[in-house]
Amino acid sequence: MNLSKRNNTRPDFTPLRPEIPHEKRPKIINQPERRSIILDGVNPRDLRELSLIYCCEQCSYFSHSLKKCAMGFRFEKHTRENQLRLYDLTGKMALCRSQEID
Ligand code: SF4
Repeated sequence: MNLSKRNNTRPDFTPLRPEIPHEKRPKIINQPERRSIILDGVNPRDLRELSLIYCCEQCSYFSHSLKKCAMGFRFEKHTRENQLRLYDLTGKMALCRSQEID
């Protein structure tokens, strides 16, 4: 059998949903603008016995004099005071994924 002369058996591409013009798309209401911050559970023993790095004051990007993150992030939820307060309430912390230590 000559494969190069085989009939094309693949169907033409048809989208699953017809494209709706932008102005006719339904408006999504009651959708939050931003998702809430991700909280990580921290084992109390780890917090007590290990020297965990969990706040901006321990981060290389934090300027203590300017009270500012060099990466441009909003740091208020990652400060030591707020982290410990959140941990007392929930057992979780808002660990920054960009935290850097020297
Ligand atoms: S990178 Fe994250 S942990 Fe470091 S100062 Fe900025 S917000 Fe804080």
